[in-house]
Amino acid sequence: MTVAKRIDGKAKAADLAESITRETALLQKEHGIKPGLAVVIIGEDPASQVYVRNKKRAAESCGFHSIQHTLADDASQNEVLQLISELNDDDAIHGILVQLPLPRHLDELAITQAIEPTKDVDGFHFINIGKLTAGQTSDAFTPCTPAGCMLMIEDELGGDLSGKNAVVIGRSNIVGKPMASLLLQANATVTVTHSRTKDLPAVVAAADIIVAAVGRPNMVKADWVKPGAIIIDVGINRVGKVIDGEIKMGLTGDVDFDDVCSVAGAVTPVPGGVGPMTITMLMSNTLRSARLSAGLED
Ligand code: NAD
Repeated sequence: MTVAKRIDGKAKAADLAESITRETALLQKEHGIKPGLAVVIIGEDPASQVYVRNKKRAAESCGFHSIQHTLADDASQNEVLQLISELNDDDAIHGILVQLPLPRHLDELAITQAIEPTKDVDGFHFINIGKLTAGQTSDAFTPCTPAGCMLMIEDELGGDLSGKNAVVIGRSNIVGKPMASLLLQANATVTVTHSRTKDLPAVVAAADIIVAAVGRPNMVKADWVKPGAIIIDVGINRVGKVIDGEIKMGLTGDVDFDDVCSVAGAVTPVPGGVGPMTITMLMSNTLRSARLSAGLED
């Protein structure tokens, strides 16, 4: 029985963060520029608080200028737009991120589109989405999660995916669709599947690369998987898990990791796979924004 390689996203993210930290120090020494990241959080959602804390910590450890704006749960649309406008005009800030989801009374689309595209390090602005779709990525920002997935796929298969079949499960704007664009740009033959796809296991069975971004625990099973396939598990699901003989709440992905390990070539674990890479790609995008603002090539 083959045992799939466990792709260590945590270790890869740590390596990448180290090189971002080195490049940040160099940028400051040679050009007097310190990458600045502003994170805006609105309301008290506990999961969002954890994500924002982790992003701030990562930014500080890379040597960035890192600021956080916390607005009350009942902040008005105008208040949020005013803050974004100030951050757009602030030369010390190269990346602006508004933590989603937003309280229901706010217009998420208007808020994400108010961020200056050159500071949109989440890659959610239509200008950045359009450039990614058109393959014009030299000055565009790619959403962090698919960008991190792509680096892990490149590590396994190289940058040219000619002749490879890739199946993306999930068609969200922040993961599935940009993931499909990146895979297509790397010459893979891409199928995007979703909740209305007929006979999903049969579609997935043709894939050399599977990216699962659904939000359904352990959905992808060994009998869906072509022998040797590379599986990237984006899903984050909170479930009861047996940890040290006790049932505790833990995280699990969309892929049944233990099951697929007997068939796949390589699999990302949850936790410790895509998650750490996502945060590091945010740092990478912010450093890149700072460099581009100074007219430095990538
Ligand atoms: P989403 O809810 O916006 O999209 C889910 C997609 O899954 C939809 O396109 C839907 O059509 C598809 N889907 C639902 N049921 C399906 C089924 N039975 N078969 C096939 N497709 C089905 O979610 P999202 O924002 O793309 O996130 C997906 C998952 O990835 C979630 O678990 C989320 O928490 C996780 N996530 C992780 C990271 C990370 O950094 N690791 C980042 C973003 C999202």
